[in-house]
Amino acid sequence: MPNINSKITHLGAEHSVTGSCHLLQVQGLNILIDCGITQGSETLVPINQWPVKPSDINFLFLTHAHIDHIGRVPELIQNGFKGEIICTHATQALLPLMLQDALNFSDLSRDEAAKILSDIEQLSWGFEYQESFDLRKGIKFKFGRAGHILGSCWIRFELPDGFNIVFSGDLGAKNTPILPDPDIPEPCDLLIMESTYGDKTHEDRTLRVQKLGNVLIKALSDKGKVLIPAFALGRVQELIYEMDRLFLDPGFPFLNSKTPIPVFIDSPLGLRITEIYSSLSEYWDKEAKELLQKGDHPIKFKSLYGVENHADHIKLMDISSPAIIVAGSGMCNGGRIIDHLKTGLNNPKTDILFVGYQAKGTTGREILTNKDKSDRSVLIDGKSYTNKASVHQLTGYSGHADQPGLIEWARAINPKLVKLIHGEQTAQSALKKQLRLCNIQVSGIET
Ligand SMILES: [Zn+2]
Repeated sequence: MPNINSKITHLGAEHSVTGSCHLLQVQGLNILIDCGITQGSETLVPINQWPVKPSDINFLFLTHAHIDHIGRVPELIQNGFKGEIICTHATQALLPLMLQDALNFSDLSRDEAAKILSDIEQLSWGFEYQESFDLRKGIKFKFGRAGHILGSCWIRFELPDGFNIVFSGDLGAKNTPILPDPDIPEPCDLLIMESTYGDKTHEDRTLRVQKLGNVLIKALSDKGKVLIPAFALGRVQELIYEMDRLFLDPGFPFLNSKTPIPVFIDSPLGLRITEIYSSLSEYWDKEAKELLQKGDHPIKFKSLYGVENHADHIKLMDISSPAIIVAGSGMCNGGRIIDHLKTGLNNPKTDILFVGYQAKGTTGREILTNKDKSDRSVLIDGKSYTNKASVHQLTGYSGHADQPGLIEWARAINPKLVKLIHGEQTAQSALKKQLRLCNIQVSGIET
């Protein structure tokens, strides 16, 4: 409980990294912050067990459009939510696309899905960064850039009794391609902060292009395929941006040749989102804007191919020449990457490159965990596949701040109390210890 006049209940992602959902009750208002689905083996609180009915929720704030933060919005609407959905302009633009994709996998009819999407569009409102807005009953809110994906934000609530709460949302690392670094909120009483990588220090991000280049050259030296499982929103665009730099870099002549290695974005959703990233250049960082001004569109290059329809996706399995294939889902728990794994795992020329977080219980986590074991077999759709592929991981590509990044951000805010969420227990414990060493008070008992 933050203070006597308000209450926070974590309905998801308190000690896990997916299914974000937090309820702030203040001044008789019920305010939900994110409403995401879980991935892997993480579990959700069923809506009928929530302390409030969806019809009694006044506002839904969305920190960004990743599915583990928005995926339950349709379920919320179906259960009677009629409040306002408040987010940044870019999140508002991405929302229908992301939810449409999620609804394609639901049991709903086309008409039911269309009705839900239309309701969401009517209820959602986009707001600018770094401006203070009145909500209701003396509560104010402000969004700041979180540097995680396009449109991502932290939210600072100013309550009428002077108590201030910041929800970090997913906080990005500095130097994330295309995006400005996270803003620092004004000081607050309570900081609800994510802790995904609370126990990790990422590889140096300034060297990430070289590292990606080195892995690609090594992986392609046997003329096989490189499979990169990637989230359609955020990671696909970052990878395109980095490969664009790499394919122009004279230091990588093997990639930067007259016949460059083709890069296939085998993700219709990833392609749609890339179009939205392209159209919202006002939210890019200085480097990306300067490239555009110089005539080098930062997320387009010559050997980049979009794979839209399913027939072309199937044809991609048969190509024998070296290729880089970027496909969803990012944790290999569905999507087109599954077909590539089924056909490619048995081939020692295949390389799998992980560039994102792999949640417990996902196929991606299993491939990574087993990569150095004698039995590297992988279970996909109930069938065991022998894994002869090489497995690589680039942690410098994380969309989340690492332990030093989280500590630096928290110290700059100087909160009176921190509550850690959105992290596995080991990450939270490690971060808690370090924050306390910096004289930052963290709620909960040391574990
Ligand atoms: Zn996210």
